[in-house]
Amino acid sequence: MHNLLEKVYQTNSLTKDEIIYLLENITPEDREILYSHALKTKQKYYGNKVFLRGLIEFSNICRQDCLYCGIRASNAKVERYRLTPGEILGCCDIGYDLGYRTFVLQSGEDLWYTAEILGALIQEIKKRYPEVAITLSIGERRVETYQSLFASGADRFLMRHETASKDLYEKLHPTMHFEDRQACLSTLKDIGYQVGAGFMVGLPGQTFADLAEDLRYLSEISPDMIGIGPFIPHSETPLGTEKGGTLEDTLVMVALARLLIPGSLIPATTALGTLNPQGRELALKAGANVLMPIITPTSVRKQYALYENKICGDDKPEDCRYCIERRIQAAGFEMDLGRGDSWQFSS
Ligand code: SAM
Repeated sequence: MHNLLEKVYQTNSLTKDEIIYLLENITPEDREILYSHALKTKQKYYGNKVFLRGLIEFSNICRQDCLYCGIRASNAKVERYRLTPGEILGCCDIGYDLGYRTFVLQSGEDLWYTAEILGALIQEIKKRYPEVAITLSIGERRVETYQSLFASGADRFLMRHETASKDLYEKLHPTMHFEDRQACLSTLKDIGYQVGAGFMVGLPGQTFADLAEDLRYLSEISPDMIGIGPFIPHSETPLGTEKGGTLEDTLVMVALARLLIPGSLIPATTALGTLNPQGRELALKAGANVLMPIITPTSVRKQYALYENKICGDDKPEDCRYCIERRIQAAGFEMDLGRGDSWQFSS
């Protein structure tokens, strides 16, 4: 184990079998060594900085039916909402005044937002605030749509691959195809977006070999951003009674992602903060370097419930902004409100 921890720290590589061995045998003491290696690696690439992104969850309407997700099409108990482009711009105005220079526009797969509507919105955001970066997280679309949104000014695209194991993927996504998801990621990269992939930890049926495959896939595609969060069951989904992912397992995967793809941007996810009040701080100490405070209007926040008990449901955008700043400082890091492009993109 000691040799593997040194190897991944010194060379930023491990074979799939080595990752499986590490996951099977890691002890609490080894985990601390792993986190410390990941923290030092993060500091080598990004110093002590933590980048902020203002997250706008603009629609919870979704045509897909992912088994784990609280806003899946089949969940009739969700009260659905859709912010108008004007309301989304209003969120950007608030976010800009709070200092954010990246906006993440996230939604279910809601085709009401056509390429034309989204393109016009992106252009208006860029006209008002030319220095901001726009990240889209809107799921699977046609290649032409991705191209036209990029031409309109979108800079980045988040699309977690969810799991890199075909069998598990197909079981969890009855309305989607494994190959399509990965093809979207490669198309987005070819178009020129900074691309974010990622996965959930603790999915029902997920093995150490599946998690090792996630890391192998990430090493192969070397994304600019990597979102890793625990699976948290939602009672109104088919996986509602399953066990969720744990804090420790998720932190180990965050640390390994930092070590294997050292120049990537890795958020300390809201899901980790939901699992444990210190979850996001612990992720920052295990190699994460991004936080995504929510600027979705308080009136609809609770309806964007991918999982239950999501934190910050009653908060206002300014509450999140200053809460996050305090947390970053208390954890011994430095808040950076710049665009925060990825190391590989800016070098
Ligand atoms: N529709 C877009 C997409 O597919 O990329 C973006 C929105 S989607 C709801 C955002 C992410 O939420 C997914 O990539 C998934 O990993 C995560 N998610 C959904 N349900 C979850 C759950 N029950 N626990 C933890 N994360 C979940």
